[in-house]
Amino acid sequence: MDINLLISGTLVLGTGGIFHLLENKIPLETVNRKKHFAFDVLVICITTVLVAFISIWLLEGYIREWLILNFELMNSILLWPLGIRIILALIIGDFGYYVVHRLMHIGPFWRTHVFHHSIQEIYWFSGLRTSALNSLVIRLPYLVGVCMFGISASVAAVIAISLGIVNFWAHSNINISFGILGYVFITPSFHRVHHSMAENAIDRNFGNILSCWDYLFGTAVNPTKSLNESDKGFEVPQEDVLRQLVGL
Ligand SMILES: [Zn+2]
Ligand SMILES: [Zn+2]
Repeated sequence: MDINLLISGTLVLGTGGIFHLLENKIPLETVNRKKHFAFDVLVICITTVLVAFISIWLLEGYIREWLILNFELMNSILLWPLGIRIILALIIGDFGYYVVHRLMHIGPFWRTHVFHHSIQEIYWFSGLRTSALNSLVIRLPYLVGVCMFGISASVAAVIAISLGIVNFWAHSNINISFGILGYVFITPSFHRVHHSMAENAIDRNFGNILSCWDYLFGTAVNPTKSLNESDKGFEVPQEDVLRQLVGL
């Protein structure tokens, strides 16, 4: 097994434990992790396998080859230090994520995303509840960024796994503030508002890593205690679980 993947996998599991402890210590709201735990574990086992296959398919398949052929930047840029290229790829990918996420909240595309918004008890583990189609489409912008900057498949795989940690972070029930940096990077409370059913929070706070897209394009709402504690999600009818899991 690739050593980078092994390190990343261990890191993901390790951060899960840290998020769990921090949630116990400084929670944003009272969350009942056990309420939908069995459903979450079942769904997340399925989606994790799907996401793994999707990620491998994206990284090894013809889509990446096509993107490299059509989007890879000039050689002089590809010679820039790897760290700089990764940051630029993530910025471009994150902007693409913001656009795709906004589109998913419109009309027929909502069907790909509704499953994620069914989460009622939001904690670090629960955010993995997404449809297969959602998981595929939302990764494409980051793949475009990676291909633009000539980042190798093995480094891209580490980035893909690290985005899992971002997912844990965004959904964690941790009361932490970044101060002024909250206008640039998302915090758990910023994304928690995205899941709120409160009227002034609907279709707000779409960002994944960066919150600045929401502030730039007028879709941000500042998190408050009442928004963080407001109702979220809904029960998925049993007959609808499979459809929502696929995302069609
Ligand atoms: Zn959403
Ligand atoms: Zn979410």
